Formats: sequence, C-alpha cells, structure tokens
Amino acid sequence: MAKKVAFFGLGNMGGPMAANLIKAGFEVCAFDLVPASVAKAVEDGCSAAANEKEAVAGADFVISMLPNGAIAEALYIDGAGLLDLVEPSALLVDCSTIAASSSRRIGEEAKTRNIRAIDAPVSGGVGGAEGATLAFMCGGEAADVEAAKEVLNHMGANIFHAGPAGAGQVAKACNNMLLAVHMIGTAEALQLGVDNGLDPKALSEIMLKSSGCNWSLEKYNPYPGVMEGVPASRDYTGGFMVKLMQKDLGLAMEAALASKSATPMGALANNLYNLYATMSDEDNADLDFSSIQRFFGEN
Ligand code: NAD
Repeated sequence: MAKKVAFFGLGNMGGPMAANLIKAGFEVCAFDLVPASVAKAVEDGCSAAANEKEAVAGADFVISMLPNGAIAEALYIDGAGLLDLVEPSALLVDCSTIAASSSRRIGEEAKTRNIRAIDAPVSGGVGGAEGATLAFMCGGEAADVEAAKEVLNHMGANIFHAGPAGAGQVAKACNNMLLAVHMIGTAEALQLGVDNGLDPKALSEIMLKSSGCNWSLEKYNPYPGVMEGVPASRDYTGGFMVKLMQKDLGLAMEAALASKSATPMGALANNLYNLYATMSDEDNADLDFSSIQRFFGEN
C-alpha cells in the first residue's frame, strides 16, 4: 500500500516537491492557506485536506515548506498544534528555512511527545525542487534522518546530516552567508577589472584558473555577457531572489548573535544586500542575487 504524506505549504518550492512525491508513488494530502496552491497540487495528483487535522490523519510522513519560523512554530505547536494531532509513528520533516532556535524548539517539543521530527532546509531553489535535485541539510537524530530518506530521496539529490535539531538550519545559514560573501567579492573584482580596461570574460577565465576561483565565478558569473544560461545573461530574472538572500542573511546574523560569533563579512554582505534591495526605483529585491553586480557600476 502506498505510504501517505501530509504536505503543508505548496508554494513555489513545496508545490513541485509534492508533485515529485506523487510521481514516486506516495499518496500526498495537501494543505495550504492559498486555494490556488491547493488547486495546483490537486492537478498534480494530491488530495486536498479541509484542515490540518484531516491532512495528518493516517500520515506516515508530515512535510512542511513554509515561509518563516513563526508560521512553522504555529503550525506544529502554538496554533494548529500538529504535534498533538499526528500519528505517534509519523516522521515530521520541516523543510522551511527558519531560525535554528525555531527548529530546536519544534524538535524539543516533539521529543517530549515521543514524536520523531527533523529540520531539513534545502539548497537548490525552484529548479532543484522541480528537478528533484535539492540538497537537504538535516538536523535531528541520525536514525530519523535515515528514515526520512524514504521521502527526501525523491525530492533531492544530496542529503546531509548536519547534527542535532536545528543543525540543518545552521548549516544552511553558514552556506548562504558564504555564498553572499563570494558573490559580492566576485562582482567587486570583476568591476575593478572592467574599470581598468579588462574584458570581464578574459578576467573571469584568468581568475577561474587562479586562486580567486570560486562557485560564483565558476557556475553563476554575475557579469552580463560572460556566461550563458545564468541570470546575469537575462537581466537578472529567474534564479535566487535578492529578498530570499536578505532573509537568509538575516537568519545568519540571528545565529551569530545567539552564539556571539564574529561575522564581519556576513554583516557587511547583509548590509550591502539590504541597501541594494531598496536603492533603485525598480524593485531590486525581486531580481536574482547576482544582480549585486549593479551595485558596483553600470552594466
Ligand atoms: P512560497 O511563499 O511560494 O510558499 C509558501 C507556502 O506556504 C504558500 O503557498 C503559503 O500559502 C503556505 N502557507 C503559509 N502558511 C501556511 C500554513 N499555516 N499552513 C499551510 N500552508 C501555509 O515560498 P517558497 O518560495 O516556496 O519558500 C518556502 C520555504 O523554502 C521558505 O522558508 C524559503 O526560505 C525556502 N526556500 C526557498 C527557495 C526559493 O528559491 N524559493 C530556495 C530555498 C529555500
């Protein structure tokens, strides 16, 4: 008999993730506050639940992909109270990107009820969700992460166990903070070269084979016209929006404050993205994050 998944939050990411579970043969019961998201999920083969309780009835897995920590905590604990509604044998997998403190709280509250729960934020964006190539960074008990692979394997290509509850969120915050830092550094270096008469393509080739090589340069060159198929070659549309990077940098700064860690580069990246998001009449917040190139000069 097909295993049953209750899926909460069928937006840009959750929608295609749920669709991939349907393709893999799971029975997926969808719940979202937006009727259009539910309608799309039903088109993809999910059933629709009238409320949270109905969604989790008989579910082997509960997966959520929600906008923020307050919503996730409300869904699991303070509001709908899923932790008190799920089957005792269900495995809860929250894939939302939220503060580590929120994931730790959900993990602790689950533990007191003997419910298995992990945090599993993702990297890979909408393309990764559609193509089932997401990377999952998991926090929780090793055995629970192992058991979650039964669903995660159908939505992603790489599944990592980062540590105890909340560790998945910490890993994601660290990764995206570093991504912001090397993207900004790459854009800054390319503009310096261009301002001094270099061709950005030639400079990119040199740095790719030199010690400045990094993922932004290799896979996601921010300078228009250097690389095909990346957001910089289509006016910075598609890709990973500045506002999502702002959210992730905010979470990294929150984590740094909690652990009293020095993150001067992350703080500067946070500052630059916040400034850039609002500095033009057009809404930079909706552009791809590599458009930070524009902060350094006209192109
Ligand atoms: P989205 O806004 O498109 O989708 C979120 C969905 O959650 C919406 O459909 C919303 O109606 C629903 N929702 C809100 N409250 C709910 C509730 N109480 N119960 C059920 N559903 C509820 O957002 P998204 O782009 O899909 O992002 C989801 C999460 O994934 C976020 O935490 C985001 O940071 C993370 N993420 C996004 C991307 C990306 O590229 N979009 C990449 C990596 C991680």
